[in-house]
Amino acid sequence: MSLREGRLIYEGKAKRVYLISNDELIMEFKDEVTALDGARKEHAPGKGKLTASQTAFFMDYLTKSGIRTHFINWDGDRRIHVRRLRMIPVEVIVRNYAYGSFIRRMPLVKPLTRFTAPLVEFHLKNDELHDPLILPEDIIEAELASMEQIMEVKSVALKVNQLLSKLLSNHGLILVDFKLEFGVNGNGALVLADELSGDTMRILMNGKHLDKELFRMGGSVKELVEAYSTLNSILGLSL
Ligand code: ADP
Repeated sequence: MSLREGRLIYEGKAKRVYLISNDELIMEFKDEVTALDGARKEHAPGKGKLTASQTAFFMDYLTKSGIRTHFINWDGDRRIHVRRLRMIPVEVIVRNYAYGSFIRRMPLVKPLTRFTAPLVEFHLKNDELHDPLILPEDIIEAELASMEQIMEVKSVALKVNQLLSKLLSNHGLILVDFKLEFGVNGNGALVLADELSGDTMRILMNGKHLDKELFRMGGSVKELVEAYSTLNSILGLSL
């Protein structure tokens, strides 16, 4: 399905955003891979279609499972059609196993230790400050969201974690951690937005990463695109 052209309103590290009406956007996933807050950047042919298809697949699954998401449809290539939201500039991280920045701030826990209960973290979305960990109180003080919204974000994030962990474990995969972004629609309702793909989730298959960690660890673009293709074939996504 081809999607209408729109006016480019934002270009980020992974996507271009086009406005097609006052409340609808097109997100175009770029054939680029970045790491270290954009410091390492390479052309990655084929990646945009893979991350767009993964986002469409996971968002569609979550929508059908009762989660309010921004997803409308996928064009079969690098673009998805979404509802436009007022974004909350906070990255919500859910962790099932100790990894990445958790280990750096809490070196007393061994990598890949399974948490007794999933952890939900809030980070300010700010590349210059390297997305610092913040408290719910910081979010309220900065008027980015209310306490009620933060409680809802947390409960939706945990529900998403249950759904995605189960879906992936049915395919023999482990969901280590992932990042979510939320926005608010015209009716004031909280909506899950942005992306769900190998770029925003850590997924292990027999100890092997099927996610962007491969590139962060110094792997090549080719390895990364192959790992994303493997994830798609395991999930039964046609490409
Ligand atoms: P970044 O800004 O981190 O480099 P991207 O390249 O992924 O990110 O750009 C996508 C941008 O679109 C992000 O800033 C994200 O917060 C924003 N976004 C995602 N979903 C929506 C939505 N439904 N409405 C408005 N903005 C959105």
